Amino acid sequence: MIPGVTIQVPAKINVQLSVGGPEPAGFHELATVFLTVGLYDEVTVTPADTLRITVSGPDSDLVPTDGSNLAARATTALAERLGVRPSVAVHIAKGIPVAGGMAGGSADAAAALLGCARLWEADLALPELLGIGADLGSDVPFCLTGGAALGLGRGERLTALPLGGPLHWVVAVAAGGLSTPAVYRECDRLRGAAGIPDPLPFPPVLKALAAGDAPALARALDEYASAPPGEGHANDLQPAALSLRPKLHDTLRVGRTLGALTGFVSGSGPTCVFLVPDARSAALVAEGLSASGTCTSATAATSSGEGPLVRYAPKPA
Ligand code: ATP
Repeated sequence: MIPGVTIQVPAKINVQLSVGGPEPAGFHELATVFLTVGLYDEVTVTPADTLRITVSGPDSDLVPTDGSNLAARATTALAERLGVRPSVAVHIAKGIPVAGGMAGGSADAAAALLGCARLWEADLALPELLGIGADLGSDVPFCLTGGAALGLGRGERLTALPLGGPLHWVVAVAAGGLSTPAVYRECDRLRGAAGIPDPLPFPPVLKALAAGDAPALARALDEYASAPPGEGHANDLQPAALSLRPKLHDTLRVGRTLGALTGFVSGSGPTCVFLVPDARSAALVAEGLSASGTCTSATAATSSGEGPLVRYAPKPA
């Protein structure tokens, strides 16, 4: 029997998040460009008598340890599919901001699926795991694959995208999360329900990603938003996140003043991400933002197309 499996799973940002009008069931059609960035949760699964969740790291007190934890739901769903008991201890070491619009819970669900599938030596192909993941949450399938991808539907219909080279970011974390459903409700309130175009990927964004060209990506975001240079974004939820958390305007302003090529709200926020030309600028912008008092912390992170990484615990001697 395998003694334990640790999965290191990266956070995601949405370089583009185009949101259609509200559907009757309350969902929204999306066209989103997902990209993993180098902030990680580590999820370790080991055999135990019953399903147990423990959490460590910053903001771990905000993460439930009961059956509502997405990693617990993923473990239970996989066990049901395989007809086994979900007898595992799942430890989540959080490095991804909680409720920060970076898919932390979905990343843990993906990691639990990958970890338990190995622990239970399940013969499951990736499409099957993607299906179980999609039932848990629309960001889970992308978290299972990572890299760069176009997500359609609710974000679960994925097409891998080429990423030409590493991109450098600064991730600015705000105190207190934002509820994703509340941000969608605010988006609907601000835009009204009529005349919302079908969400589509924006070709200049895809082209800049394929080239790994940060200045071209910043220009594409300006073009998408018809915004002045360096103020563009392709996140239809950004106005709603800013409306619910006006202080994020200060974070975005400071990051741009420090030399970021552009900055925008990540997904439903309140985390803001800044695109910078290189690793040196990332360190400088992160330091300046941390000192500015407009966010609780700012960290440099690179996108190099990575996905979840699996490590097996050594067998006891
Ligand atoms: P997304 O970007 O997918 O909208 P998010 O990054 O904004 O999600 P999460 O970090 O996934 O948000 O947390 C949203 C809520 O989910 C939290 O407030 C928390 O109560 C709950 N939650 C359940 N399981 C987890 C988990 N494993 N890690 C973090 N939060 C979890």
